Amino acid sequence: MMQEKNKARASNLCVDGQALWTDLMDTASFGKTPKGGIRRLTLTQEDKQVRDWFMQTCESLGCTVSYDSMGNLFARRPGQDNTLPPITMGSHLDTQPTGGKFDGILGVLGGLSVLRALHKSGYVTRHPIELINWTNEEGSRFSPPMMCSGVFAGVFTEEDVLEKRDRAGIRFGDELDTIGYRGAEPCGQHPLTAYFELHIEQGPILEAEDKTIGIVTGIQGARWYEVTVRGKDAHAGSTPMPLRHDALLASAKMIEAVSLVAKEHSPSAVGTVGLLENRPNSSNVVPGEVFFTIDIRDPDDAVVLKMEQDLMQRLQQIAQNGGVTIEVVQIWDAPAVHFDQQCVNIVEEAAAEGNYPARRIVSGPGHDAGYVARVAPTAMIFVPCKDGLSHNEEESITTAHAEAGANVLLEAVLKADQFFNLSE
Ligand SMILES: [Zn+2]
Repeated sequence: MMQEKNKARASNLCVDGQALWTDLMDTASFGKTPKGGIRRLTLTQEDKQVRDWFMQTCESLGCTVSYDSMGNLFARRPGQDNTLPPITMGSHLDTQPTGGKFDGILGVLGGLSVLRALHKSGYVTRHPIELINWTNEEGSRFSPPMMCSGVFAGVFTEEDVLEKRDRAGIRFGDELDTIGYRGAEPCGQHPLTAYFELHIEQGPILEAEDKTIGIVTGIQGARWYEVTVRGKDAHAGSTPMPLRHDALLASAKMIEAVSLVAKEHSPSAVGTVGLLENRPNSSNVVPGEVFFTIDIRDPDDAVVLKMEQDLMQRLQQIAQNGGVTIEVVQIWDAPAVHFDQQCVNIVEEAAAEGNYPARRIVSGPGHDAGYVARVAPTAMIFVPCKDGLSHNEEESITTAHAEAGANVLLEAVLKADQFFNLSE
């Protein structure tokens, strides 16, 4: 039995789970918050510190580290044929202002534990192996998120990104120079054979089903809207109910419509109103104007489109009934991502061979892998996080899950090394 299983595996290597955990805890000191989380906004001194640590540690494992014109870091371990584009792993080391210790970081340090396992065993892959740290995944200091994997994939231009400013008015390009991570290689001129990203789920499904590994088949599609509802400010005491144009009352019904439309496309669709401004926001004034946002998502673009159509019809109807007007602007359209079938199968096999309980899953949030998938065969590996909590200082995972995820990453990389070489 045992022999049979080993035969199917690409190697008998395992990551050092204890060393991985030590790396996670040690690097958490760069931007550590009093509540045990991390504040490591992109291109800050804390970001520089963790980048310096990353470079030194990768070099000590026999890798050469370079960075491109957007500051994306590439730690390269040579293979037998260094003319082949690398098999790659990666994620991000930047965090939200009150971020946790694992979002993004697990993918980079998990990749580091793969490099460590290869280094210690002296295993030589056919392709070079690279570990990537993408600049500004979070989009918290400079918007939008996944900015530099976006440039890498040709979604945004380098010129636009360099001119982005944070809320203090500081230019992205200037901060990249300040921390010393603007490289000579033009971003995107770096072909990849395949890309695997390990990440925490940031949702409750794996934990609820007691699964260790999520085989991520794609990322759901999302559309965002800004809605302005206009009625008429009026005195709360003297304006009879039939004569009101109450923008907040109409908005309340619209918010419910967002929820209903999502539920009608259950179980996968979601719809959220998370931001609302009420004007003039005074206790004795019938509200004259309300601004709110809508976020709708589903793994199927056709469903997102159908939800949009249903929703717009209902919002118009509610506005008409309520004697108010409505203006809707679509501000973001992210089509669903479908990861490469071969890479997804490779992750599935890697999880099975490690005997980890696993299921296929679609990612709710966006990830760098979503953009990388436009330019290279890509898949992701999820591990559970406690209560599905993320973008929170209390974000928590177990050492066993971190190790399991990194082992699946290791096995996936080695399988891809064989698969993609044979298919050429
Ligand atoms: Zn992340």
